[in-house]
Formats: sequence, structure tokens, C-alpha cells
Amino acid sequence: MTPGVKPLVAGNWKMNGTSAGLDQLAAMANYYTPELHKRLDMLVCVPATLLFRASETVKNGPIKTGGQDCHWEASGAHTGDISTAMISDAGGSAVIVGHSERRSDHGETDQVVNRKVTAALASGLMTIVCIGEIEEERKSGKTLDVLGSQLSGSIPENRGGGELVVAYEPVWAIGTGLTPTVEDVREAHSFVREKMVELIGNEGERTRLLYGGSVKPANAGSLLGIDNVDGALVGGASLKAEDFLGIAAAYRALV
Ligand code: PEP
Repeated sequence: MTPGVKPLVAGNWKMNGTSAGLDQLAAMANYYTPELHKRLDMLVCVPATLLFRASETVKNGPIKTGGQDCHWEASGAHTGDISTAMISDAGGSAVIVGHSERRSDHGETDQVVNRKVTAALASGLMTIVCIGEIEEERKSGKTLDVLGSQLSGSIPENRGGGELVVAYEPVWAIGTGLTPTVEDVREAHSFVREKMVELIGNEGERTRLLYGGSVKPANAGSLLGIDNVDGALVGGASLKAEDFLGIAAAYRALV
């Protein structure tokens, strides 16, 4: 954790969930009381098709909703894409940008991510920028170089009003049940913190840095206890209220 920084537990449903899944979101909202909200923020990034209904499901409560990607343009001929204004219009207040699955499935480069981050921040959305090394890069000792170059490329110079959040997600840990050692996470997050200060100055000292990659109720507490880990980006374990709430409960014990 970073002293004075409120943790954020963010879920990423990926391409999972139809309207039947909204009962899980309703269950999360029942547990996540205003009292708990004083200690930690919770966000669920759902598929675009569900965003409006998900936002209605948690309306007036402290759980926020968001999208999983956005286009950098405000509107136009971009079949299948959604704009930041569409996310806001559907009730979302956040967006994930540059997730490794977008980078690998859709060839998104740091330059593309940079444009999306610029648009998302300008529209006032909380913008979660994902970075992380693949397995070969870790094995060949290039992790910090990769993180540094992804941050330099993805974080824009001109940042609008939205909150910038960075998620460190080792690609080999996503959806695999594998996690880095506590020492590896500490090293990566400390590096990301320094790099953020270099890139954006004082704001970088308080930027929320999330860890992502196979976070579960059982390992959440030990991961959040690490310096400069200000929360989690959670894939698989955010689909079920019991698991996601278990992660929140582990955090609650610490904050
Ligand atoms: C993710 O999708 O960002 C993620 C971390 O997935 P999982 O928690 O399933 O590893």
C-alpha cells in the first residue's frame, strides 16, 4: 500500500457475462456498504453490452462501473468500437486501456494505447492503463525495461481531468493461477512508482498502482500488503460475488 492512498479493487469481466450475470453484481452491491467504501473503492468493468444495465444495477451505490476499452475518436466510422462518451452515457465512470489481451488480440501498440488514454482522461473517465511483461521477457531479465518502455509510450504528456491508474499485470500470470513472488511484485511496483514520478511529477507519487494476475481471496491480502500496491485488477475472480467480495474482505482487514 501507499500511505494515504485509498485502495481500488477493480474487476474485469472480459468477454464474459450476459444479463443473467447481473445478479452477481447486485450481490456485490449489497455487501459493499458506504462504510466499506470509506476504506476502499470498487469498480467492475463489464462488457459494453452490459454496461447500461450494470450501471443501473448499482445506481446510487458506491460500486462504480466501467468499460474495457475505448476508441480515441469521439465518434465516426469505427465499426464495433465505442467512444468514451458512450461509456459515460451508459453510466460508466472508468475504462481499462491497453490490457494485454487487447495488445495481443488486436495488435494495440503503446502509441495506440497513448491515444486512448489521452481521450479517456480528457473525457473525465478513471483510466486504468495496463502494462506487463511476457514470460520470455521475465526469464531473460527484461521485465523492468519492458515496463519502463510501455509506460513511456503509453502515458500521455497532456492529461485531462480523469484519474490515471496503472495496473502492473505480468502477462504470464493472467488467468493462469501463477503469481510472481512478493519480492518480484515489490521490485516491479517500486520501479513503476519511480517511473511515474519521472513521467508525470508529483502526481506520480499518489497514482494508484494496481497489481493484476490471478488475484484470489487467498492471495489478495499478501499482495496488497506490498509497498506501492494500491489495489488489484481482477479477472476471473471478479465474475462471482463471493470471490470478488472475498478479495475486498482481505483488503478490508488491512486498511
Ligand atoms: C485481468 O484480466 O486483468 C486479470 C488479471 O485476469 P485474472 O485475474 O483472471 O488473472
